[in-house]
Amino acid sequence: MASLGNPLVEECADGVYRLGTTYVGFYLLFEGGKYTLVDSGLPGYWDQLTSFLDGRGHSIDDIEAQILTHHHMDHRGNSERLREAGAPARIHHIDAPFLENEAPPPKAPLWRLPVLRYLGHLVKNKAMKTQSLTEYTTYDDDELLEVPGRPRVVHVPGHTMGHCSMYLGEQKAVLAGDALGGMDAYTEAIGPCLAPSFVNDDDQLALESLTRLESLDADKVLVVHGPNFNGPIAEAVALARKAAAA
Ligand SMILES: [Zn+2]
Repeated sequence: MASLGNPLVEECADGVYRLGTTYVGFYLLFEGGKYTLVDSGLPGYWDQLTSFLDGRGHSIDDIEAQILTHHHMDHRGNSERLREAGAPARIHHIDAPFLENEAPPPKAPLWRLPVLRYLGHLVKNKAMKTQSLTEYTTYDDDELLEVPGRPRVVHVPGHTMGHCSMYLGEQKAVLAGDALGGMDAYTEAIGPCLAPSFVNDDDQLALESLTRLESLDADKVLVVHGPNFNGPIAEAVALARKAAAA
């Protein structure tokens, strides 16, 4: 599926845009003429971001804040560059130390062809050149972030211990981060699922954290890896549990 790596721009909900690719998405929340970025994609996506803003008569200067769901490199490829351009970054305090002291790369099962293809996409889009974030502030669980789009923090540990999803009450949407994905990393089968074990800090905890997402009033599950899920989040969680048990 070559299209997994093709550039993608999608309005997912009122004022909520997904950019990046099907492999790696990131989000823009637009409110009051300003933007919040939720995660920042891969370094190779920079031109896509600037041309999207340009096409709307805006620029990087209109990004007021960036919110990171967790510390993994494929979620913050442009974050240091955006910080230098004036968009401060925030992350949960448990994941914050990894922004300066990078965690060792996971031991990926390279004999799985879809995994190899995904890593090829990361390399092509310069993921390995991701700069460490030198300055940031932290957020806490359940905090309503006073940035454009006003996302609410939902701490859902397991993928990483400080991993958080972002809830958009007005749009009834959840920016899942890597608490829920839209595509099986080993088979590229479409559907809600957990991230693969080799990138999770704690599989069991990731599974338990789904209970928290399940209780949200949402019918749009906006993921980073794979296609989004349009339907009640309880249904997405049920499908992910089923996939994990298989
Ligand atoms: Zn991750």
